[in-house]
Amino acid sequence: MNIAVIGAGIVGLATARAAAMAGHKVSVFERSSRALGASVRNFGMFWPLGQSGANFQLALRSASAWKQIASDTGLWLQQHGALLPAYEVSEQELMHEFIETKSRQDGYQLQWLSAAEALAFSPMLQANGLCGALHSQTEMLINPREAIPQVQNWIASKYQVNFHFSTPVVSVAGHQLLTASGATHHFDHVFVCSGADFEWLFPEEHRASGIQICKLQMMRTAPVKQHLGLPVVGPLSLAFYDAFATCKSWQPLRQQMEAKYPAYFQHGIHVMAAQHHDGSITIGDSHQYAQELGPFDEVLIRKLILDYLGGLLQIPDMQIAETWQGVYAKIPGKSALISSVNPITTIVNALGGSGMTLSFALAEDVVADVLA
Ligand SMILES: Cc1cc2nc3c(=O)[nH]c(=O)nc-3n(C[C@H](O)[C@H](O)[C@H](O)COP(=O)(O)OP(=O)(O)OC[C@H]3O[C@@H](n4cnc5c(N)ncnc54)[C@H](O)[C@@H]3O)c2cc1C
Repeated sequence: MNIAVIGAGIVGLATARAAAMAGHKVSVFERSSRALGASVRNFGMFWPLGQSGANFQLALRSASAWKQIASDTGLWLQQHGALLPAYEVSEQELMHEFIETKSRQDGYQLQWLSAAEALAFSPMLQANGLCGALHSQTEMLINPREAIPQVQNWIASKYQVNFHFSTPVVSVAGHQLLTASGATHHFDHVFVCSGADFEWLFPEEHRASGIQICKLQMMRTAPVKQHLGLPVVGPLSLAFYDAFATCKSWQPLRQQMEAKYPAYFQHGIHVMAAQHHDGSITIGDSHQYAQELGPFDEVLIRKLILDYLGGLLQIPDMQIAETWQGVYAKIPGKSALISSVNPITTIVNALGGSGMTLSFALAEDVVADVLA
């Protein structure tokens, strides 16, 4: 079949890969000259630990795709996991409970590290008050700014996927796709993977799903000579990820954190830091949901992130080199939007903060289902 994919973010690329692997002829349409959306603005954290339920296994399946692409292309992929340091006894207790519960389930690779062991893994951790850390070995790190073009080139050469850049699609009617220049293309099936730009194609269908946009403020340091070691996920994240909510000690910990950090909860801030191979450290983030989001960054949010980071890491001579905002689509309480607009058009969107982690396996399942 002739397949069109709209959007060259990670969801569009993963869908194109899955369709091409299934033997279809695939064309990708991207309105910008290269992918510039959420897929190049994130940490590059491959993060199964943050996934709940069946999505954990979906993430592990996606890991194989990233490893294969890295082995085929030389894409930089750090595979040593991630560290969640604990500075309060209540945080440590939750992590122990999490390790105890999850270690009985397939695929988790969790261990508790003493403070000294955690510092050996990640020498920039603040030693003062450190109780220890949860080390999860399933996490990986890529550099999204390089990885997305590498994945795109790999799909183009390995599966002969055709890319049309600087080509906004303005409508899809039946088998016909119309671009802004007035060109029409005929396809057997169209996948709409437009990310946060969902207002342009099938806006009603997107809106009916309860989809929202979320703005995240991010920053990146100038290259730092010292090694962070592993990506570090601050304890505040324990309160925000559903994966931890199944623990008995989660509710009291969340209440305690909300009372201690009201401004952080107001702005949806939980702090992570990941060092890429050029030495720069990507730091974030905040989460602001709305129907329409302003383009302006708040200095207060940046300050809150950096204040919290200061209690977590000691980054020598830290200089912020870049700040930006990322926007993703998300349906509260759902991990993705998979919707058949009609028998020949499918929306794949709203992977929220997990697109780099889930897209490859999710797209394989969607394509197998829809193009069966
Ligand atoms: C700051 C931030 C940090 C994150 N951190 C992580 C992380 O560490 N780990 C993780 O797993 N996930 C993370 N995420 C989530 C992840 O980045 C997203 O889930 C994912 O990138 C969404 O991919 P997408 O393809 O749906 O959207 P996008 O990457 O935004 O791609 C959509 C593409 O569609 C194109 N498009 C839209 N409409 C049209 C049209 N009409 N015609 C042609 N092209 C069109 C757009 O130009 C765009 O390139 C993060 C997200 C953000 C914003």
